[in-house]
Amino acid sequence: MQPGDLDQEELLMTLGDVLTEVASGHLDGHRCPVCAGGTLLCGDADGKIVVACRACRLHFEGWLA
Ligand SMILES: [Zn+2]
Repeated sequence: MQPGDLDQEELLMTLGDVLTEVASGHLDGHRCPVCAGGTLLCGDADGKIVVACRACRLHFEGWLA
């Protein structure tokens, strides 16, 4: 799977568990669910979640509802 194969809604679903963890402060050690090969770089600033994967170039930014 490549990040470009997914629209924003599919990406949200794919990253769902990771986003929940990041939102609760667990930023480290998440495996990328898109390529299954990279470790995600996650950040949380002013409630905005940023998730990136260097292996597949996934880059997601968004707010959790
Ligand atoms: Zn990846």
